[in-house]
Amino acid sequence: MIDLHSHTTASDGTYLPPQLVDEALRTGVRILGITDHDTFSGYDQALPLARQAGLELVCGIELSTKLHGHSVHLLGYFLSADGLGNFRTWIGELQASRRERNLRLIARLRELGLEITLEEVQARGGEMMGRPHFAQVLIEKGYVRSLQQAFDEYLDESAKGYVTRREPQFAEAVKHIRDAGGIASLAHPVRIREDVAEILPELRAAGLNAIEVYHSDHSPSQSALYLKLAEQHGLLITGGSDFHGAVKPEIHLGTGRGGNLKVPDDLVDRLRAA
Ligand code: AMP
Ligand code: FE
Ligand code: FE
Ligand code: ZN
Repeated sequence: MIDLHSHTTASDGTYLPPQLVDEALRTGVRILGITDHDTFSGYDQALPLARQAGLELVCGIELSTKLHGHSVHLLGYFLSADGLGNFRTWIGELQASRRERNLRLIARLRELGLEITLEEVQARGGEMMGRPHFAQVLIEKGYVRSLQQAFDEYLDESAKGYVTRREPQFAEAVKHIRDAGGIASLAHPVRIREDVAEILPELRAAGLNAIEVYHSDHSPSQSALYLKLAEQHGLLITGGSDFHGAVKPEIHLGTGRGGNLKVPDDLVDRLRAA
């Protein structure tokens, strides 16, 4: 079994990197891609343990980018983790812009009358605090009942607490991934607000060379559509569960939501050959 999309505590997952390695071994995942938001820290920590256990680890990342004014997630896969120096410097800048955004987000929420502190969010988020960690604090303090309500009322792009963050343009992020020798894959295309078939030529021209055909949020017919688009546009194929642990308990590593995920066994070979 293969799973190329997962998160650890280094971003917004709840499994520590060693726990994620254990979960892969337990569930029979043979090749695991770790794709934390804006950081390789989870991958770096998992690597020695995975080597010891004979689990094949793929170095990945998930970036939030801006496309036509909306947020679009982009996956980067680095099958050879050498020569990532410049890329690591660049994601360091993204991390700094996130930290600066988090300070403004705290100020904005406090302005709205919510008693929330950076320390409280830090205690849930650690090194890479994101909006899901803010949501967790709002739930624990009784301001909202669910993650969804936290986003709908305060944190979503359209909500009253939203503050902007400097996110790279889609094309800029693709370029950084490709320049570092990586494969740039359009994450969970089902979440894109525009018609994917219509915008793919533009994304392709920006250097996008893969698409996430298999994902826990995709129905069989959606996966079939993205597979067809991949063939039409000469894109490589990636797939994974988007496992986050306890914050999304219905999603399982390797098998997705209620067993709806089946990533083909030869997929990583095809990525390697490319
Ligand atoms: P951040 O990177 O801090 O801006 O937070 C982005 C993360 O928040 C995404 O990766 C999602 O996991 C989550 N997220 C963003 N928008 C929503 C939403 N409307 N509902 C639920 N989760 C969301
Ligand atoms: Fe996430
Ligand atoms: Fe995502
Ligand atoms: Zn993800």
